[in-house]
Amino acid sequence: MIERLRSLLPRTPTVVHECRQCGRTVEESTDSCPACGARNIASYAVE
Ligand SMILES: [Zn+2]
Repeated sequence: MIERLRSLLPRTPTVVHECRQCGRTVEESTDSCPACGARNIASYAVE
């Protein structure tokens, strides 16, 4: 039942990548922050 409902509502999960140091949102493939150079990128899913 639940599976059927899910297939009716195709949802693409949005993943946000953000610098932990300055909070800037960066591209998915970004390794280091373009703003501050930190290699500390956090990734989390938003709905
Ligand atoms: Zn940064």
